[in-house]
Amino acid sequence: MDDPENFLDRQLDLVVIGAGINGAAAAREAALRGLRTLLIDKVDIASGTSSASSRLIHGGPRYLEHGEIRLVRESLRERELLLHTAPHLVRPYALLIPFYAHNRRPAIALRAGMLAYDVLSPGKSTPRHRTLSREELVTAYPSIERRGLQGGILYFDAYACFAERLAVEQALDVCAAGSSVRTHLAADGITAGSTALELELTDGLTGSAMTIQSRAVVNASGPWVDDVLAGVCGVDDSDRPLIGAVKGSHLVLAGFPESPATGIHYEAQADARPILVLPQADGTVLVGSTEVVEAGDPGTLRCSDEEIDYLLTETNRLLPAASVNRGHVLQSYAGARPLPYQPATVRPQDVSRDHSVVPHPRVPGLFSLTGGKLTTHRALGELAVDRIVDHLDTQRSRRRGLTARERAGLRRRAACSPTRATPLPGGRTADWAAFATRFAQRDPLNAGKGGRLLSLYGVRALRVDARISADPKLAAVVVGTDDVAAAEVEIAVTEEFARTLTDVMARRLMLSRTADAGLSVAPAVADLCAAILGWDRQRIATELSAYRSWSEALRPQSLATSDAERAARGSGAESRRS
Ligand SMILES: Cc1cc2nc3c(=O)[nH]c(=O)nc-3n(C[C@H](O)[C@H](O)[C@H](O)COP(=O)(O)OP(=O)(O)OC[C@H]3O[C@@H](n4cnc5c(N)ncnc54)[C@H](O)[C@@H]3O)c2cc1C
Repeated sequence: MDDPENFLDRQLDLVVIGAGINGAAAAREAALRGLRTLLIDKVDIASGTSSASSRLIHGGPRYLEHGEIRLVRESLRERELLLHTAPHLVRPYALLIPFYAHNRRPAIALRAGMLAYDVLSPGKSTPRHRTLSREELVTAYPSIERRGLQGGILYFDAYACFAERLAVEQALDVCAAGSSVRTHLAADGITAGSTALELELTDGLTGSAMTIQSRAVVNASGPWVDDVLAGVCGVDDSDRPLIGAVKGSHLVLAGFPESPATGIHYEAQADARPILVLPQADGTVLVGSTEVVEAGDPGTLRCSDEEIDYLLTETNRLLPAASVNRGHVLQSYAGARPLPYQPATVRPQDVSRDHSVVPHPRVPGLFSLTGGKLTTHRALGELAVDRIVDHLDTQRSRRRGLTARERAGLRRRAACSPTRATPLPGGRTADWAAFATRFAQRDPLNAGKGGRLLSLYGVRALRVDARISADPKLAAVVVGTDDVAAAEVEIAVTEEFARTLTDVMARRLMLSRTADAGLSVAPAVADLCAAILGWDRQRIATELSAYRSWSEALRPQSLATSDAERAARGSGAESRRS
């Protein structure tokens, strides 16, 4: 990890505000193109919407309904790139679309959509779609509702189970390219100067304030984009908002008898919205999502009782044998899609999922990102940096008096995106499958552990081994887990920008996905963090309490009783720490 204060001595080309997947991707693109970049987040990498998605890396068959061919083609191209550049984090994933008599979308339209899906992704590495007869479908999915079932389509997209780590790996590359990343550092104000933008920053953990200058700024704060713009000093801020955030929730269900063998993309009977039922590698089933317009801080969203009931009802309509109820809900989560602002008359499901880079009308060098998907983060990063480079070149050529031809030359060079072909740090091997086999064979007794290390870290799993070789104490298994090594905690806080217990638990080691949201493991992880970072007893207690508050927003099963008690006392929603 770079020296946290390194960036203070530097003349920065770019500050990226927000280390969600899109900000992290823009910072990686910029750093790899040689711009001196600082990536900051007021909380942590992927602590916002990027940890609250369905985690599909997909073209989005339903966007075809809205004629968004460009978006689907780009998404399919990005899906294929990610399968190669991040094979440990992004894996092929099969999905079924069943045709029911109740569907508002006719089977013929779905078939045509799937043909287009294949045509728009030439040379892809995943299989083409396949039509299933009713009989074939019932045999392959014995628990599926048969009434009204007419057949279906089986197709492939991809899945990023640990989407948070996809963002963490972008940040690792920012540092590897000589730029800086800082978590828990908020941008509170932006002032335009004659040659640079001045940013007021505050460290959320120490309270220390600082001012830095940068030639350009990307506001990648997702659903907080308009809040950041409200901090631009000395300019009229009466512009229309850029973001119209739409809440979406998911349930994590305990595996049930005859859980489907693949994901299912189902049309809800209640409102014809798409519902995804997504079996996970750990045996749980993710079900989502909803679309609800809800005012308030995007950091304090919780999945409501109504959303839970809606998602359970639709799951039971699709899979009656599952008979899921609230007792099956291990936890839930909610996030805000940072969609482009639309008047209230437009239904959330009709708002485009496409992205754009919006220059500030009165502050040259300040650009905001709107829209976007997990899938298209790299493409949005590339687009943002193209705009930044354009802006910087225009400034530079004005100063130096370059000709239009010289400027065009600079632009051509700038347009070569290094991220199209550069694997993420965990994907840097010529043959991922061979590496994974060798890694697992080396330690057959620990095959389970090897599997976990590989899917979290890719080839960086070797870093865990290296740390253990250097200090055998780090081989100790974290109390309360089967296979998490103490070395992983050390790597999280010394190499991966984690500064709090919640950062480590939720977005590095991915330990919060259980029925108790990792609360039983948290004390052991806190002690390990304390030993490395020098936390005293007081700090450990503060971290544990902050983690508990954060996890309460997930409404984990183990806290259901205390949830009910709180409701009885009439207290409000717990906020996520953000
Ligand atoms: C329910 C749901 C399902 C989805 N499913 C999918 C899917 O299956 N596939 C897909 O491709 N996409 C999906 N998406 C979309 C995708 O998750 C989002 O588009 C994407 O994660 C947005 O990332 P972001 O980086 O723009 O925003 P965020 O992840 O929200 O990041 C913004 C960051 O900015 C930080 N920040 C805010 N203010 C400041 C400040 N003042 N200073 C510093 N930092 C600040 C925040 O802390 C946050 O970390 C889904 C979204 C939702 C809500």
